[in-house]
Amino acid sequence: MRGGSAVQEPLPAQGATRMAIDIVRAENLEHALELLARDGAQARPLAGGTDLMLRLRAGRLAARTLVSIADLSDLAYVREQADRVELGALTRVADLITHPVYSREFPAGARAARDFASPQIRNRGTLGGNVGNASPAADNVPPLITFGATVTLQSKRGSRSMPLEDFFEGPGRTRAAPDEMIVGFQVPKRPGAFQFFAKFGSRNANVISIASAALLLRLDGETVREARVAYGCCAPVPLRARRVESYLSGQRLDERLIAGVREAVLGDIKPIDDVRGSRRYKELLVINATEDALRGALESVRKAA
Ligand SMILES: Cc1cc2nc3c(=O)[nH]c(=O)nc-3n(C[C@H](O)[C@H](O)[C@H](O)COP(=O)(O)OP(=O)(O)OC[C@H]3O[C@@H](n4cnc5c(N)ncnc54)[C@H](O)[C@@H]3O)c2cc1C
Repeated sequence: MRGGSAVQEPLPAQGATRMAIDIVRAENLEHALELLARDGAQARPLAGGTDLMLRLRAGRLAARTLVSIADLSDLAYVREQADRVELGALTRVADLITHPVYSREFPAGARAARDFASPQIRNRGTLGGNVGNASPAADNVPPLITFGATVTLQSKRGSRSMPLEDFFEGPGRTRAAPDEMIVGFQVPKRPGAFQFFAKFGSRNANVISIASAALLLRLDGETVREARVAYGCCAPVPLRARRVESYLSGQRLDERLIAGVREAVLGDIKPIDDVRGSRRYKELLVINATEDALRGALESVRKAA
């Protein structure tokens, strides 16, 4: 399939119909953007395929053309700049665990990558695919939101960036136009900030989250100067928890503050009952995770004092 040639792949969809789908291997970014512009809403970027192929086979997604971007190795990078780290859309989840810069600057992000799926899926699945899939359960997203990451989209018309939390419209839906592709992420460095990520599943490995929580706290002694908080599986999109953030910001981090955080969490989240867990269970998971994170932060400042 090199050189942009197309193959036709009959995919059996659930419900007995068979769809013929062209899979075209893009030679470079320009070629990929041309193909997306040509086929519009009928086309989809295909990165590792760990989400896309399952959704197509289950008949949960319609597409006429899959634009394979797997050969665009220029988009697989972790680059360190003075004030930020740049991540390419084709960076594999496995690389987020082992890359020395990402794991040093963003231990909570590396933790999310470590808790993600299985080695096979981590070696195939990409960061761009995890974000592009727009699942409220995407594990890499809550920590990236707390770091203040922006996502960069490119099309033949140009490029634009937006805060990651603004990228999602609903389950499986993003603000990317059909001719736009995610090319990368800019993640501001957060030196000295306390970072936390916890994922809850029905077992320890290879499992989609029931809920997840990420926190980033910038502390001045025991005072919270800045709080950024995000939850997975608690709303139709990965959720930035602004009530929790404003409840914590500027406050003294003590047991009284920690005891009161549950009301702020409940004000932010809207989990649903589903096959993975009840609304109430998810509420308890993220309340407990938030309290644990705050206690961990307090303990670490006290140890350092
Ligand atoms: C067994 C199993 C376990 C899993 N466990 C987890 C888990 O623990 N945590 C978790 O978060 N996910 C999990 N997943 C989901 C999946 O592996 C991840 O979402 C993965 O990161 C998707 O990346 P991909 O490269 O395979 O994306 P693909 O499947 O290729 O694409 C996914 C979606 O993103 C779009 N897309 C891909 N790249 C781009 C781009 N550059 N620009 C715009 N759109 C793009 C595609 O068009 C498609 O809609 C699991 C999946 C499986 C099969």
